[in-house]
Amino acid sequence: MKTIVLNNRPEGKPTLSNFEFVEVDKTLNISEGEILLETAYVSVDPYLRGRMSDAKSYVPPFKLNQPVHSGVVAKVLESKNEKFKVGDYVSGMLNWSTQQVSDGEGLNKVDPEKAPLSTYLGVLGMTGLTAYLGLTEIGKPNKGETIVVSGAAGAVGSVVGQIAKILGLRVIGIAGTDEKIEMLKSKFGFDEGINYNTTKDMKSAIAEAAPNGVDVYFDNVGGPISDAVLFSINQFARIIICGAISVYNETELPTSLSVQPFLVKNSALMQGFIVSNYAEKFPEAIQKLAGWLNEGKLTYTETIVDGFDNIPQAFIDLFEGKNKGKMIVKI
Ligand code: NDP
Repeated sequence: MKTIVLNNRPEGKPTLSNFEFVEVDKTLNISEGEILLETAYVSVDPYLRGRMSDAKSYVPPFKLNQPVHSGVVAKVLESKNEKFKVGDYVSGMLNWSTQQVSDGEGLNKVDPEKAPLSTYLGVLGMTGLTAYLGLTEIGKPNKGETIVVSGAAGAVGSVVGQIAKILGLRVIGIAGTDEKIEMLKSKFGFDEGINYNTTKDMKSAIAEAAPNGVDVYFDNVGGPISDAVLFSINQFARIIICGAISVYNETELPTSLSVQPFLVKNSALMQGFIVSNYAEKFPEAIQKLAGWLNEGKLTYTETIVDGFDNIPQAFIDLFEGKNKGKMIVKI
């Protein structure tokens, strides 16, 4: 059994030396009420960076020398819990371990017949829920409006853009390579795409792509990209602050635009979003997402990395934009 623990806290960008592999050469035994799990797929997510720092947040920091955990799909190898039988697949927050014992608390059964197992970590999992609930609960999108999505080619962003298209909006995506921009338009149906790495004047590029202004901004990245979007917001615009990956590795507090004048002038709303605050809406949201998937209105892409030992590198690669869609490690 192998486990990955947090060896030390990253300073700036995470590196492989922040993690340590611990091998345990013993058979895991289960007690009454427990199950033995074998990990099948591991989700690596930008928000895990926050948990690696010793700072107050909406979830407590990871403890040093303890296993890192994230969304995992695992197979039940042994069961002494009546809710789970051998061969079932479950998803939930589990350790970065090849095998582990659980009491089943917080785990949901997932059905490989209904959808590929990896999708329960992506479009039918936490990132799909984030896209749907962030957009509908805070974005309150209306047909005919214009939305800008940053981090558009990633797990959350690619689903946000497609849902916005389903709801009849004009969709502009911002991402880091021409290949990603091409994918946004050809695979996900975005109307426009802007490569922030090759565009010198983001303010003008956004204004040009959104001639009627921006009604909804789904912000996954923060920083200068988001500053540039503010210059194009319309009256009563809604800005969903979902993430700020561009600043997660900053060691100094970044300076950025003062947002208040933009919000006041446009009577705009800017609100932070945390998916777990909407747990009572998960069943309804999953039903919507699964329905659209089945109807072929929604599609997804995944970057699947092979092998348990590559989990830390896959996580680090999120900050280099190496993924398209959901980054997942197959064990
Ligand atoms: P992604 O699949 O979008 O992967 C991260 C992407 O971020 C990379 O592919 C890269 O794409 C982009 N990126 C990396 N560094 C930068 C940078 N400096 N500036 C701009 N873009 C950058 O991740 P997710 O879809 O899982 O998450 C997207 C955001 O949503 C994150 O900020 C995450 O923390 C947040 N989130 C928040 C949740 C909540 O409940 N609030 C839940 C889930 C996610 P590119 O090539 O385009 O640069």
